Amino acid sequence: MKAKFRRKSKYCPLCQSEKIGHHYNIKKSDYVFNTDRCSDCGFIFMNPGYTDSFVESFYTDKYYGESADYSYFDERKTEKYCAYVWKSRINNIRKYVKSGNFLDIGCSFGLFLKYASKYFKTYGIEISKYSSDYANKHSDSIIENVSWDKYSPKKKFNCITMIEVIEHFMFPREVISKIYDMLEPEGVAVIQTADMEAWQSLSAGENYHYYLPGHLSYFSEKNLTELLLRTGFRKVKVFRPVDFPLYAKLLKSRGNFIKISDYRKWIHISLYHLKGYLRRKGKPLTSSMVIYAFK
Ligand SMILES: [Zn+2]
Repeated sequence: MKAKFRRKSKYCPLCQSEKIGHHYNIKKSDYVFNTDRCSDCGFIFMNPGYTDSFVESFYTDKYYGESADYSYFDERKTEKYCAYVWKSRINNIRKYVKSGNFLDIGCSFGLFLKYASKYFKTYGIEISKYSSDYANKHSDSIIENVSWDKYSPKKKFNCITMIEVIEHFMFPREVISKIYDMLEPEGVAVIQTADMEAWQSLSAGENYHYYLPGHLSYFSEKNLTELLLRTGFRKVKVFRPVDFPLYAKLLKSRGNFIKISDYRKWIHISLYHLKGYLRRKGKPLTSSMVIYAFK
């Protein structure tokens, strides 16, 4: 399918500055796109960005079936193992909000929500009809197959999660402000994305694996935190590398192990996790981060 682009933006979608310039030209299999970087806030974005309808065309069953050029890991196959991470994350969230309404944006097959539903009334939105149909059939959560801008819930939420989702939006400022409005007072937003100002992403340059045709926005810890505070959140807490412990990650990884020697991968996973705590010249070594924003 031929890519369709919107008009090229003359300013930074995050801070509105006009000081934007060419960053990288990214080539990923059949896809070629340009990224610009804002010299005021460091935000990187696809420019020109894909049109909404072209973006939606990514999320077919092929995307989930791993046969597309650009695909999503199907967590249904390893649910038992992924659950270690989901449960740990929910435990961490419950340090701040114990119960109430819980919304997962980009909830895929609804499996994370399934574990959250032990404590919360769970809701999800999912742009892919393929996965939202599955989620509705197999869970108690209320899942809507709707794009973000058309979603208008009647209720407010105590927790909203966006796990590797915000990078898929062209206009993150509007997304964050809508999340803020949808939260109850004292509610928390949980956002996971890559930090493009970390050494891992900086040293890989244009080969960094996060540069993908489905990713329209690329943040740093600093500019995402600033956006959240500017929107009105009273404080943020940044978890590096992630908001769950190493053992959960190790247990999850077993889902993809086939032979006993695969356990050697635990060395690599552990080192990557431990590097996630370290900084050099003020910059984090790895790009892994999860931000909690409190209303
Ligand atoms: Zn900017």
